[in-house]
Amino acid sequence: MNETLSLGRLAGIRIGVNWTVLVIFSLILIGLSTVQFPVLFEGIDVAVAWIAGTIAAVAFFASLLAHELAHAIVARHHGVEVDGIVLWLFGGVAKLRGDAPSPRADLRIAAVGPMVSLGLGVGFGLLAWALVGLGVRGIVVGVLGWLALINIVLAVFNLIPAAPLDGGRILRAILWQLRGDRTSAAVTASRAGRVFGVVLIGLGLAQVVFVPGPGGLWLVLIGWFVTAAAGAEEQQARIQHALAGVRIGELMTPDPVTVHPLVSVADLLEQVVLRRRFSSFPVVDEAGRPVGLITLNRIRALAPERRATTLVEDIACPADQLALADPDEPLTAVLPRMGAGEDGRVVVVRDGVVVGIVSPSDVARMLQVADLWDRQRGLPRPGSQDHLGR
Ligand SMILES: [Zn+2]
Repeated sequence: MNETLSLGRLAGIRIGVNWTVLVIFSLILIGLSTVQFPVLFEGIDVAVAWIAGTIAAVAFFASLLAHELAHAIVARHHGVEVDGIVLWLFGGVAKLRGDAPSPRADLRIAAVGPMVSLGLGVGFGLLAWALVGLGVRGIVVGVLGWLALINIVLAVFNLIPAAPLDGGRILRAILWQLRGDRTSAAVTASRAGRVFGVVLIGLGLAQVVFVPGPGGLWLVLIGWFVTAAAGAEEQQARIQHALAGVRIGELMTPDPVTVHPLVSVADLLEQVVLRRRFSSFPVVDEAGRPVGLITLNRIRALAPERRATTLVEDIACPADQLALADPDEPLTAVLPRMGAGEDGRVVVVRDGVVVGIVSPSDVARMLQVADLWDRQRGLPRPGSQDHLGR
């Protein structure tokens, strides 16, 4: 779920919405304004119902944002990089890069979301209760009451111990603490997620058969999403396990062919690209410091007649968009960065100087080797310095 529209930043964290949020927003708005409020408050003015529905729906999404923001802020506090928050069809996601450093941090990052929802639910409830005590009746109390209920439902649903829900992450943190093994904890939490997803699909199908209305289909959709996300998380946990301990320096292509930014693209093609088998070249200054990356894709995008008059620096991926890594960094820490890098490539830098490059195919090969290693324990651990003989 990528962001379609950016809403700017809150507390330094990027907030975006995916277009699918319109679907759920409309469902809530129409449901409240045309069904729930008119049923609860007989004789309510149509315009008032719509205004109240809009306020309730907007406040609900603000609550959702507060929930995700809490995850993001606590994650950042524990040193986990945060890419941003996206609101979409099934609510919100705080996109975190990498994992919590400890079970305790994992637990805190996961638990704070439902706590915020619970707090908001109780807060809205108390406000409604106080207003009723003051003699206020009608739609204002209705909106507050609905916000109280929906936030508490959100907190409780998210506490179900099944990945990718917050409860699943809490389960993972607890098992991680107990077993001392993050992978096996994550795999158990993911399996719980798959079971829960299948149960939701079953309940949804039963509802489709026995209860008229779209509610059942919605459950099926959520169940399908939970199942798929849990499966992806299990795979991710296994990949991270397979690649654990591998350092960037062990799989990078060392001493890559580099280019000066002021060389023309025509010269680059003739003197480097056509003679070497690589498809990306770090652009470096006189001291060997990275100032960009040039790829075959970028060269191809340039009209051939402009090659002689265009410099490498004009079409290279600029330095501030490069994905950089240190040779001593673990691969699992760098993986999230690879996706953001130009063509999935990471430029490896030691003491400010380019010493290597990592491409997605290097990682794919390492995964295959790790898989072989898992199947046949006799092979050297990937990345170890052993030799099998010549
Ligand atoms: Zn959450």
